[in-house]
Amino acid sequence: QARHTASGHALYRGSPDREFSRRLSLMGELRHAIARNELLLYCQPKVDLESQRVCGAEALVRWQHPKHGMLSTGEFIKIAEHAGLITPLTQWVLEAAFRQSYAWVEAGMDLPMSVNLSAHDLRDPRLLDRIKGLFDTWGTAPELIQFELTESALMEEPVGALEILTRLKDLGVELLIDDFGTGYSSLTYLQKIPVDTLKIDQSFVANMLASDDSEIIVRSTIELGHNLGLKIVAEGVETQAVWERLVALGCDTAQGYLISRPIPAGEFPDWERHSCWH
Ligand code: C2E
Ligand code: CA
Ligand code: CA
Ligand code: CA
Repeated sequence: QARHTASGHALYRGSPDREFSRRLSLMGELRHAIARNELLLYCQPKVDLESQRVCGAEALVRWQHPKHGMLSTGEFIKIAEHAGLITPLTQWVLEAAFRQSYAWVEAGMDLPMSVNLSAHDLRDPRLLDRIKGLFDTWGTAPELIQFELTESALMEEPVGALEILTRLKDLGVELLIDDFGTGYSSLTYLQKIPVDTLKIDQSFVANMLASDDSEIIVRSTIELGHNLGLKIVAEGVETQAVWERLVALGCDTAQGYLISRPIPAGEFPDWERHSCWH
């Protein structure tokens, strides 16, 4: 069975044994990949549903594997977790994101870039100092870097998350809850944590025209979020029909293949200038 990677290369999955040894070797290689700089920063645009203009980007890491070709994060983040490599991976992404954000400003584009953090990062006592250090080093405005945390990561680490989120918020950055709707967070918890934005999980967005249940989840998340004073991003927007329904429901922001697949971060200013979402 072939699975296609970000660049269209097929990754053949063999027997469970073969799969296990492939994972083991990928674990070892990922460690080197971080050191050898085989990782690449890609970015996917977010577009304001009302003005139809690009309003930000999400940083998504890619691994240019010498043998398997381009691997997307979905294909190696679990491996990174098992191998205890989230801390160096996050560190790599943070450094790349701040460097890129600086380059974007130099190129005349001052869009915020959001960086994904894992549950593991919420247990890392040095994370905050590293982030502060990067703001100082690059002189980055706090509006230009945002953080996305999945609802399930927040549920795994509710106390640690509250502490880190509060201190990140003190730096003036915007915080987003990712994959919202999949993690059963309670309303009281939502009110307690200092988040600004909910990202509705792409499974609901993709199905919202075909499934009443998904449409109800999308609609009530928008209502709930707005009642709590939060902005709403819909991810996984692939069709014009979904876009239009989101406009009708009053959603704020869209992200997905309809607008663009993730693109190399360095090419983003050029893409933005020439796209119809300018
Ligand atoms: P996510 O944060 O929910 O990111 C969205 C994923 O959906 C990305 O996959 C993106 O390429 C994909 N996507 C975007 N638009 C569409 C669409 O219209 N249709 C479909 N079918 N998919 C779309 P990717 O890059 O493979 O990332 C997978 C997950 O890996 C991310 O999910 C995020 O949880 C994690 N991840 C990615 N980059 C990082 C990172 O730098 N650090 C950490 N900790 N996690 C990351
Ligand atoms: Ca995300
Ligand atoms: Ca997401
Ligand atoms: Ca997701």
